[in-house]
Amino acid sequence: MKNNLNDMSSEDFRKNGYNLVDWIADYLSNIEKYPPLSQLNPGDILKRIPQTPPTNGEEIENVLADIDKILMDGITHWNHPGFMAYFNSTSSGPGILAELITAALGANGMLWKTSPAFTELEKSMMNWFRQMVGLPENYWGIIYDTASTSSMHAIASAREQLDLGIREMGMSGRADLPKLVMYCSEHAHNSIDKGALTLGIGLDGIRKISVNDKFEMIPEKLEEAIKKDIAKGFKPFCVVATVGTTSTTSVDPVDAIADICEKYNLWLHIDSAYAGVTAMIPEMKWITKGWNRADSLVINPHKWMFTPMDLSVYFTRKPDILKRAFSLSAEYLKTNQDSEVENLMDYGIQLGRRFRSLKLWFIIRYFGVDGLAERIKNHIYLAKELRSWIEQENDFEIMAPTPFSTVCFRFNPGNFSEDELNRMNEMLLEKINESGKLFLSHTKLNGKFVIRLTIGSIRHERRHIEDAWELIKSIALGLN
Ligand SMILES: *Cc1c(COP(=O)(O)O)cnc(C)c1O
Repeated sequence: MKNNLNDMSSEDFRKNGYNLVDWIADYLSNIEKYPPLSQLNPGDILKRIPQTPPTNGEEIENVLADIDKILMDGITHWNHPGFMAYFNSTSSGPGILAELITAALGANGMLWKTSPAFTELEKSMMNWFRQMVGLPENYWGIIYDTASTSSMHAIASAREQLDLGIREMGMSGRADLPKLVMYCSEHAHNSIDKGALTLGIGLDGIRKISVNDKFEMIPEKLEEAIKKDIAKGFKPFCVVATVGTTSTTSVDPVDAIADICEKYNLWLHIDSAYAGVTAMIPEMKWITKGWNRADSLVINPHKWMFTPMDLSVYFTRKPDILKRAFSLSAEYLKTNQDSEVENLMDYGIQLGRRFRSLKLWFIIRYFGVDGLAERIKNHIYLAKELRSWIEQENDFEIMAPTPFSTVCFRFNPGNFSEDELNRMNEMLLEKINESGKLFLSHTKLNGKFVIRLTIGSIRHERRHIEDAWELIKSIALGLN
């Protein structure tokens, strides 16, 4: 079969493609027979894969069979309804179909010309999504892979806005450059730190502002820190407010933070990677207070909008600054349309880009805005219900407010020291995750080990939350 130089024949593609679609449909409808968290040990999968690549080609059927034989018990099933760890990231049917087309077209959207439909669908989807989350028209959007990348571009824009010639001269060896400092709460995601270390700000250039008892940034502490840095001759340039922090999903007071940013002329970036999609729901509109004052904002549809990894949406009021930070012209990339179109390569570090907007097009059209909002709203409702069940148990304790769909709690049967409680909850979490039925994650709040349970899978039904809670209680009872 492979004594020619062609790709797979279209008959073979068709046959294997149909089989693969069957495999995917079976996988998703039988997903609950797998444990959500892979129970393998490090190196187990490595041992099953030959050390050297095959010299001669094989039938693709063999490769497909090896998905089951070699990989599946090494998969942690993010699509499993027992996956309630971190923040969910689930693949919906329309999202999976869109991925297939992305691969088939293989389009690279570096320039408008390299696929006009790519650039213009992305633009349309950013316009749709902007309206869905209630941002004003002056916000310009682009799709990146992850929130880490989006936030890095926000910090890069904030740095460019300073007009310190960093684009041309860099930051090292310059006596004329003040120390640049930026601010976020102590609960901000570490992608902010990564952005800072990538851009030469350094971890030492980030001030972690303390939070109140609801884990929200204290604006007075922010202003104090800014004043202190200015007094030392440093140059504050950027504040990151988090709407839906990773540990507890707390919401920083964006309006008050925006006042401070305006007063000191600082770039305001909002990290709403997880929670931002809830802005679609009328009852959740409160989270968007002050958003129209932000210079930039990130929301990840790949977290809570049923979009297969990866797809992060970045909005900014100042796309010209983003472009100023990153555009370069190379002769081989010049086109006749340059003066009338947006070439997406000008708005970030990457040249090539995947056709991700297809996923939004499929998902938004298939579910409709109301369908998406209803699903997300149901998750928030289920989380409130779970929270009320936990509150009714004497031996359990709620550890943080529940503004969205993530519940923070711990087992606390009384008369134990904090150290003992930490050890007990760590053991409880380990046993839950070894059960093969549920996967939860944890955080530490004020030194206390806290279990986090997130609801946000497209496959989450009430029964999954009930079963999870029964399991948690029964394992906890066994510990005591
Ligand atoms: C998940 C998360 C991130 C990182 O998201 P990636 O897309 O994986 O980079 C950043 N910030 C917050 C608040 C998050 O919840």
